[in-house]
Amino acid sequence: MQHDELWIGTMLEGNARWVLVKSTDTVEEARRRHGMSPVATAALGRLMTGALILASSLKGEESVTLRLLGDGPLEGVVAVGNAQGEVRGYVREPLVDLPLKASGKLDVGAAVGCGELTVSRSLQNGEVYTGTVPMVSGEIAEDLVHYLLSSEQIPSAMLLGVLVEKDYHVAGAGGFLIQPLPGATEEDIQAIESQLGMLGAGISEMAAQSENMDELLGHLMGKLSYHVLERRSVGFTCTCSKERLSGTLVSLGKKEIADLIADEKAEMVCHFCNEHFQFNVEELRGIWERA
Ligand SMILES: [Zn+2]
Repeated sequence: MQHDELWIGTMLEGNARWVLVKSTDTVEEARRRHGMSPVATAALGRLMTGALILASSLKGEESVTLRLLGDGPLEGVVAVGNAQGEVRGYVREPLVDLPLKASGKLDVGAAVGCGELTVSRSLQNGEVYTGTVPMVSGEIAEDLVHYLLSSEQIPSAMLLGVLVEKDYHVAGAGGFLIQPLPGATEEDIQAIESQLGMLGAGISEMAAQSENMDELLGHLMGKLSYHVLERRSVGFTCTCSKERLSGTLVSLGKKEIADLIADEKAEMVCHFCNEHFQFNVEELRGIWERA
């Protein structure tokens, strides 16, 4: 069961907007499906949480794909979020293990490495907008903030965090975005910066310790005034199906499919959710006919 939520609102008398997501169950579901190490869980969990935040301003069937292509041992992290609050994703190398940083935190930056962040938005009208920026640190929140500023000219502050237990379970995960709106004053910006600077714990610890979204939001906002406009459910959901993967088999062509028929079976695995789909000879013959 997933119980994650994404809330959207305004703060400082409407001079800034914010998006808060608790993604603990979503990230745990991704960890369970992909059998990921702690640092892989943290990297994918942060990127999936960021995808939920960026997708929250989309409509209808629109979606956003975030790709981190770095030279670190994870060899790439991909997350796709949509306007319905659904997110899915994977890392190329889910078993990567690295020593902790001196601070005791998982070394996501080293696992991701240096490289590029690509953001693709698929819009209702069928158009796809893609922007690529060099990564700042591979720690993901900083990279997304850099993308929003350099590609979309939107100044933002973003927190993303995943807390992984010793037994590899996800204890807490979440993300928080603040964007000043055109009416924001210098004092508003300073108030936001000072509040974020005063937070004693990371957002993942706060997500783990808070009983509910109200409590989590209260901790993050401190004395700042805020207003909640919208509450949504979010969670890990994949869009794959046996039918969709059979389309991939069709595209292999008759010769490849004939080889699979000779093997008497075929298995297709969805990258995004690690679901395995088996095809028997009869089904493969049908696919051969369609090719
Ligand atoms: Zn899938």
